[in-house]
Amino acid sequence: MPIVRLDEATVRRIAAGEVVERPASVVKELVENALDAGARTIRVEVVAGGRELIRVQDDGCGIPAEELPLAVERHATSKLRRFEDLARLASYGFRGEALAAISAVSDFEIASRPSEASHGGRLRVRFGKSGRIEPVGMPVGTIVTVRDLFANVPARRRFLRQDATETAYIHRVLAALALARPDVRVELVVDRRTVLTTPGSGRLVDALAGVYGAETAAKIVPLEPTNSGDVVVHGAIGLPVVARANRQALFVLVNGRWIESRTLVAAIEQAYHTLLMVGRYPIGVVAVSLPPDRVDVNVHPTKREVRFADERVVAAAVHEAVRRTLLCHLPTQPPPAVTFNPLEQPVVQRRLLVADPSRVPVPAPLPSSPTANSREASAGASPAEGRLPVLRVLGQVRQSYIIAEGPDGMYLIDQHAAHERILLEQLLEQLATRGVEQQRLLEPLVLELSPQQLEASERYAGDLRQLGWEVEPFGGASVAVRAVPRVVQRNIERVLTAVLDDLASGGRGTTPLECVAISTACHSAIRAGQELSLPEMRELIRQLEQCRAPNACGHGRPTVVHLSTEELERHFGRR
Ligand code: ADP
Ligand code: MG
Repeated sequence: MPIVRLDEATVRRIAAGEVVERPASVVKELVENALDAGARTIRVEVVAGGRELIRVQDDGCGIPAEELPLAVERHATSKLRRFEDLARLASYGFRGEALAAISAVSDFEIASRPSEASHGGRLRVRFGKSGRIEPVGMPVGTIVTVRDLFANVPARRRFLRQDATETAYIHRVLAALALARPDVRVELVVDRRTVLTTPGSGRLVDALAGVYGAETAAKIVPLEPTNSGDVVVHGAIGLPVVARANRQALFVLVNGRWIESRTLVAAIEQAYHTLLMVGRYPIGVVAVSLPPDRVDVNVHPTKREVRFADERVVAAAVHEAVRRTLLCHLPTQPPPAVTFNPLEQPVVQRRLLVADPSRVPVPAPLPSSPTANSREASAGASPAEGRLPVLRVLGQVRQSYIIAEGPDGMYLIDQHAAHERILLEQLLEQLATRGVEQQRLLEPLVLELSPQQLEASERYAGDLRQLGWEVEPFGGASVAVRAVPRVVQRNIERVLTAVLDDLASGGRGTTPLECVAISTACHSAIRAGQELSLPEMRELIRQLEQCRAPNACGHGRPTVVHLSTEELERHFGRR
């Protein structure tokens, strides 16, 4: 093929791919435009995960009608004139690409009215083709409406996840921007329901309450002010009790811009070292301010990443600020260890009185299949396939791994992964036969949820119920938990919120039902770092021996390491 210049429409569609990855990227660009326009109130509405509709309305400075066609052109911006301006840039946008990109891949409309105009102007651009400007009556500000996103880019559309997942991404964008700008009133409406609002009071505590819910926000503490050189760290971070099962509720801001930075997130997580259990992640907002010439914001098309002149200095300042804050707020005594005893009957918390004790059977032994025979399983085959042989427990290493001896060598078992596997198989077995065993709470447990958790609890109410969870709306952001799966013997709140977080982030498993099962098993299982008595370990191993697939936990991580007699002998030079 001879070389030709691509036509403008094709160039735009290709370029759109960089800026507009998914509905959440559209929301981010539009909200940033609203902030750049000096808006005091921003309302975002999405339908069907943003696929059907995204609408962003602001009360900012507006755009004169005659400039609307320029606003949707590539490399047209009011925020930057020369490359040198970039270093001192105070606005979110500067590339002049967002509206061009979005309007190339959607049925797009922008309506805008500057304060000095008596009415607004409206311009529709359908998949890159502009219409003409029409007058429209509207309040001062701008309304951008995006319909049928990616309808002309089937590859991109196919790549989108379930509505709930896309909505969760959008929620995260709004949460980040609301925390970055407590002075702006932010509202997010998902499928006609308001799921996030902040009052725009200018106080971070109010924005935190809007984003996380009042109850969680009460456990998010302001960072001890830290000043190392010209790097200033501020914000607020959650105490370990409000940690989550994923990293979605932690936000990092650099000079007011929300960014993704693995280094800074790692610095924050390290500051929680030994304070959080494995698999739990901090929440909150950590804001770094430094002179604009010490950070390059122009390294990523969506401005999601930045480059620091000296990243280590920034990371150290962040670590120091978070660590100092945590130490100020934590009791000096370590929390009492939770005891676990699989030999006992279910440990029933005081408020978790069982309504009908006859409905709480002793754990039913799993049906044994012919391959359960221990010799058979151990004969030659590596434990990667099939069942475990009968094992003799020798002891515990690092309060995390159980050492045992089998007919062919030594076994090292991850106690958390193993217990998770046991609980998962119990749940799946019950699900497939007589239904998941439930424990009714005598008194419902009322919990306050985050908007994402609340949405997950409603959307997947059927899946949750099948797995034994009975969770009902209880007004506002609250739910009432009336029954729990019997495998959940303690920490109901922590387990349920973790399950909902997993559901909301489209986490584990291939179906929501599977996600609930895996997540319930994972978060109810004993943890690493917990000391177990010999009888407890024996019981755990006995139950693991009964498992159909004892060698991996619900996430596919291995539960067992096997060193065969032959390997041991070879290792010690006996062969
Ligand atoms: P950028 O934000 O990088 O300048 P965009 O394509 O996002 O590029 O927007 C192009 C221009 O349109 C902006 O520079 C701004 O002048 C104008 N604009 C976009 N959205 C708004 C808005 N909500 N209110 C006022 N002006 C806007
Ligand atoms: Mg922009």
